[in-house]
Amino acid sequence: MDERSGDRRVLILGGTREARELAEKLSGESGFEVVSSLAGRVREPVLPVGEVRIGGFGGVDGLRGWLRDNDVDVLIDATHPFAGVISAHAAEAAAALNLPALHVHRPGWRERPGDRWIRVPDVASAVETVGRRGSRIFLTIGRQEAGAFAGLTRPWFLIRSIDPPSAVLPPHHELILARGPFAVDDEVRLLTDRRIDILVTKNSGGELTVAKVLAARACGLPVVMIDRPPLPEGARVAESVAAAWDWLRTLP
Ligand code: NAP
Repeated sequence: MDERSGDRRVLILGGTREARELAEKLSGESGFEVVSSLAGRVREPVLPVGEVRIGGFGGVDGLRGWLRDNDVDVLIDATHPFAGVISAHAAEAAAALNLPALHVHRPGWRERPGDRWIRVPDVASAVETVGRRGSRIFLTIGRQEAGAFAGLTRPWFLIRSIDPPSAVLPPHHELILARGPFAVDDEVRLLTDRRIDILVTKNSGGELTVAKVLAARACGLPVVMIDRPPLPEGARVAESVAAAWDWLRTLP
């Protein structure tokens, strides 16, 4: 608790819609002082309301030092479900300082009738799978890991990300720079126009980017669905901003 103002200082590790919604919610409530943290991956990020810091902390030790030096009372990890490193750091640093901590983790997408999912545990397995069975591949896993597919020299790729990937990309590709939300009709048109035969995506969950999965179902296309990394053991999880708010209100 901040002794000067009596407010509880909350650090939100962000980069997601949930993190922005939570920052907005808390900034409108009395009793909380919020700082949001972004990794700095996106050139023009959608900024949350209120105070924002940008850039890594320098590992778990750096995060622990930052939490201590900035008198943080509560840590909320509202990073992307695939941002496993920072989630692990958050859990470890909070435990070391005995801070209440929560992971806001939206539910993953679930396979429904009509879906043709090939579930894989990680990006390396996705590379192996599409290498065997794709010839025109829609790759939508974000810019950081698109380079993992560079060794696939035979198939053609449609690659979509917010900013251009910095890694070397597969030799046959088209790059589209775009940020969700996307409409299902537009996604169906894209799949059809580019004669896509397989979609590769992370199981990010949420509404913002689900249209491609719905479009693949509508077109009867297989989807290589990359499963999420596990959350830190014993992590306290809220699946929504509302659940996170409920937890925050019950803190002593
Ligand atoms: P990561 O692999 O879990 O983290 C790598 C490093 O990036 C961390 O060790 C930390 O550096 C820094 N970092 C990550 N998130 C941070 C944050 N919110 N504030 C300050 N530093 C942060 O994470 P990532 O996959 O690179 O994702 C980075 C950011 O992009 C996250 O905020 C995440 O929400 C967002 N994002 C990720 C994905 C995805 O698919 N991975 C998709 C959409 C958005 P230090 O060790 O130096 O502290």
